[in-house]
Amino acid sequence: MNRPLLFLDVDGPLNPYAAQPERRPDGYTTIRVPRDSGTSDECPGLSSRRRPLRVWLNPEHGRHLLQLGFELCWATTWMSKANQWIAPVLGLPELPFVDFGDALFQERPDGVHWKTSRLVDYADGRPFAWVDDEQSDLDQVYVTAHHLGPGLLHHVNPRIGLRENDFHALADFARSSSSTFPPAQPSPGRGSPSA
Ligand SMILES: [Mg+2]
Repeated sequence: MNRPLLFLDVDGPLNPYAAQPERRPDGYTTIRVPRDSGTSDECPGLSSRRRPLRVWLNPEHGRHLLQLGFELCWATTWMSKANQWIAPVLGLPELPFVDFGDALFQERPDGVHWKTSRLVDYADGRPFAWVDDEQSDLDQVYVTAHHLGPGLLHHVNPRIGLRENDFHALADFARSSSSTFPPAQPSPGRGSPSA
């Protein structure tokens, strides 16, 4: 239980919803999710006919995410629905999720994202990286002020989604924050070739 947390947003990092709609990016597959199934509705005003929500997902992303050295956790408006709709396509197991409760979509007067304080509370001092397309400098200020452990706010362009360089940056953080919070290592002792 010593790995850092990876808070995962869906729309933006995993579903590049802002990419040109007629051009599904290479490697992605399409799922269509009924609107009444608790989905995120990034643009609720744009579809009065309530067509299914189109979601692009890259099935390779699950494997990459699992190899990064984190404990994965959904941090998305999909909340528990991410386990139903997103995880199976990516080959991810059922993951814990942050329940945003009455904070969901509630803009704050100070401009801090409505997810931020909930993520800091959930982490409770444990190192975390947060992958999202909506953080701002205000969120970094909030995390710096309220979170005792290492915290990486990793921004992903919603036109592009997660790419190889993002995975590298996250893996680097996982390594460095694990060494900041060292797990209880067995002592090198018997049989150690370096002893
Ligand atoms: Mg998003």
